[in-house]
Amino acid sequence: MRTVLIINAGSSSLKYQLIDIDTESVLAKGLCERIGIDGKLTYQPTGGEKFQQESPMPTHQQAIELVLGVLTDEKIGVIKDMADVAAVGHRVLHGGPNFTASALVDEKCIAAIEEVIPLGPLHNPANLMGINACRAAMPNTPQVAVFDTAWGMSMAQKTFQYALPYEVYEKYSVRRYGFHGTSHMFVTGEAIKRLGREGDPNVKIITCHLGNGSSVSCSIGGKCVDTSMGLTPLEGLPMGTRCGSIDPAIVPFLMDKMNLSIKEVDTLMNKKSGMLGISGVSSDFRDLWAARKEGNARATLALDMFALAVKRYIGSYAAEMNGVDCIVFTAGVGENDAATRELIMQDMDFLGIDFDFELNRTAPRGEEIVLSKPSSRVKVMVLPTNEELAIARDTASIAL
Ligand code: ADP
Repeated sequence: MRTVLIINAGSSSLKYQLIDIDTESVLAKGLCERIGIDGKLTYQPTGGEKFQQESPMPTHQQAIELVLGVLTDEKIGVIKDMADVAAVGHRVLHGGPNFTASALVDEKCIAAIEEVIPLGPLHNPANLMGINACRAAMPNTPQVAVFDTAWGMSMAQKTFQYALPYEVYEKYSVRRYGFHGTSHMFVTGEAIKRLGREGDPNVKIITCHLGNGSSVSCSIGGKCVDTSMGLTPLEGLPMGTRCGSIDPAIVPFLMDKMNLSIKEVDTLMNKKSGMLGISGVSSDFRDLWAARKEGNARATLALDMFALAVKRYIGSYAAEMNGVDCIVFTAGVGENDAATRELIMQDMDFLGIDFDFELNRTAPRGEEIVLSKPSSRVKVMVLPTNEELAIARDTASIAL
């Protein structure tokens, strides 16, 4: 059996998934929590019982060793020994300007990820800990880094450039990178297959990854043309707790009026804004809809603002690409929240969209479905994202 181990390492946590690359099925998945504090391992073999264990894991390396231990355990394991893990795929947040695609991990790759730590100060060091831990625990197994920013690297300079002094771009690599790249890439590829347009250089797709974090991206021929997140994931749509795009002059204005430090204003925009900040209710769309039904004006406003922002991106991306063939909804809200999809899709017929509102209301949650009517010029569909599978596919194609 050829399997790929997918690792998503945070500073004190590590999510993992073991995928059989030939059948593309998940054999097991789980989580290490509180690394460096005390340590808890969760392990869920597909079709089997969930296993939880408090075990000390002072470092990421010990966490990985515990994961390998349960995966190969005689009773609850899903593989015989570590040799069955053909490769490891790592989710890495920021590849900076150097990585246009996933890359085999070597000294040069590690140095390049280190170099862009200033662009991903929270995630890249944690991602590197995951990589180093796996290299130590499995020195002979090839490792691949899959970057969330690689998708956006096909954008033209006029698209990724900010109208700041040019030196800011040259000196500090300040430009639009975009995030959720693995998800946009995955659902774009799947949509192209559903449309039967593989290899067509002109197929135009807009992907709406709407979750706690949200972004919209567009592509021609499967290559990213534009994406809504920027240098950081803060730009673009209002999100669960992030403000999205605002007048940049608001930042110094608030720092002055509220006497905020750089850190405090950053927290205000990333953690206290968006759906939570506007509604004062919650960052979760289920709570917002419940409050809206009870007549809560600010929850209503938050949802209206969100839908309007998505609509603006769809409109501007259709203009940017001179048309659109397909719009995809994905992630927590995109896959499950019919009411938000309905708000977004209202009054979009001018674009050639004939949305089936009735079907949308009755569509099963989290499942692939076409929501436009057969006569619709633009196809609208829900496609569940699967970032782990996308990482597994890239890892296998590079390492195996
Ligand atoms: P993340 O950005 O953290 O990966 P997800 O893509 O998992 O987030 O999306 C999580 C969000 O999806 C939740 O905060 C919630 O707002 C929304 N969501 C999940 N299920 C539903 C549902 N049944 N109805 C409405 N919203 C949902």
